[in-house]
Amino acid sequence: MKHNFNAGPSILPGVAIENTAKAILDLNGTGLSLLEISHRSKDFEAINNECMALWKELLAIPDGYKVLFVGGGASMQFCMLPYNLLNKKALYCESGVWAKKAAKEAKLFGEVVTLSSSADKNFSYYPELKNIPQDADYLHITTNNTIYGTELRRDIDSPIPLVADMSSDILSRPVDVSKYGVIYGGAQKNVGPAGVTFVIVKESLLGKVQRAIPSMLDYRTHIENDSLYNTPPVFAIYTMLETLRWIKAQGGVTKMNERNVQKADILYNYLDNESQMFVGTAEKTSRSVMNICFVMTPEHKDLEEAFLEFAKKAGMLGIKGHRLVGGFRASTYNSLPAASVQALVDCMREFEQQNKK
Ligand SMILES: *Cc1c(COP(=O)(O)O)cnc(C)c1O
Repeated sequence: MKHNFNAGPSILPGVAIENTAKAILDLNGTGLSLLEISHRSKDFEAINNECMALWKELLAIPDGYKVLFVGGGASMQFCMLPYNLLNKKALYCESGVWAKKAAKEAKLFGEVVTLSSSADKNFSYYPELKNIPQDADYLHITTNNTIYGTELRRDIDSPIPLVADMSSDILSRPVDVSKYGVIYGGAQKNVGPAGVTFVIVKESLLGKVQRAIPSMLDYRTHIENDSLYNTPPVFAIYTMLETLRWIKAQGGVTKMNERNVQKADILYNYLDNESQMFVGTAEKTSRSVMNICFVMTPEHKDLEEAFLEFAKKAGMLGIKGHRLVGGFRASTYNSLPAASVQALVDCMREFEQQNKK
């Protein structure tokens, strides 16, 4: 039995993978593979439309917003966003490495002001988001810091358009989309395979910058063409659709949130209340429900490699921490079963009993 804690690309619902496999062999009884149909065909049009409609339904996206599927990953949004929205000045919350990368690209388009940062403590807490100045074009936040295991997990009020990279916590909880100007992310953490990027954009924010925008980087191009301006990632969109169908069948994002909190609690409770060997790295009030980061206490540090080996033999995959934090990281995305988290805790407990100093 394997337990998939990969940070991304990561675990997907079994049924989404099975149905994709079937569609690769024969899409809807057409006798053609999903991989060899035209993106202008009726079959793909239906897939694209259902996928957009499910996004709207699952997140209760209000009128005035469009859902786009584009290429280039979340990293492409780091530049596409300021291309479309940054006239003079933008605010960035420096909550981790992805946030820093986003700010770096924005600097090519205008003045970038760091609203707040948690760099002083290696991003182990979520920076404050208050006293937001009103003279900037937007405020950019990263709701879940995949590498450091910190998360905002609430929708803040912002006096200026709020832009969120939600790559690693999208659809893990209900979100009040009306509080955001743009929400974007790579699909490969929580909603699909690599290759497609979702962008939820408030249309009224567009068309206000002075610069010319290349067609492919202009959100309006993709809005006008229902994300079919050029050939979209047909395969990735199909698997994303199957993943959204699964989320809906499970009871939607409210249910996802309930389960995700319960799953994270299993591991955090062990770290907080039982373990003498493992300790969480993120401050309690900032802890992520999606990526749980932990290390060994100083006196056990030399056992980290041994634990990785032990865990691997027990079927725990992808728990090595990011090199910037070290230690371990268990990613507990939507489709990871609670039983996998319990299995990890059992494995940690067993190792601890055998090796405690
Ligand atoms: C993974 C990740 C990215 C980068 O995504 P790509 O699709 O690989 O460009 C950006 N932001 C966050 C929060 C991430 O977790």
